[in-house]
Amino acid sequence: MESLAMNFPHRRTFEGCFESICRSCYVRVAKAHSEAELRPFERAHVCDPLWVHKMSIYAEGAKKTCEPGKSAGETCSASTLSR
Ligand SMILES: [Zn+2]
Repeated sequence: MESLAMNFPHRRTFEGCFESICRSCYVRVAKAHSEAELRPFERAHVCDPLWVHKMSIYAEGAKKTCEPGKSAGETCSASTLSR
C-alpha cells in the first residue's frame, strides 16, 4: 500500500498551517492546523484527469524548452535577453 505522505507532500504556511499538495495534479488538497487533519481530505482526493493531462503537457513543454546545453536564445523568451 502506498503511503499518503508520498503522494501528498505537506508544507507549512507562514501562518502556521499545513497544506497538502497532490503530487499528480499539483492541486492544494487541503489546509489545516495539523497534519492529521489533512488525511481525510487526502484519502478523498481524486485528481481531475483533464488537469493532470494539462500539467503533463506543461511539464513536457518545460522539459523541452529548458534543456541544459541549449543556448538561452533557443530555450527562453528572447525579450529578457540582451546580446
Ligand atoms: Zn490530484
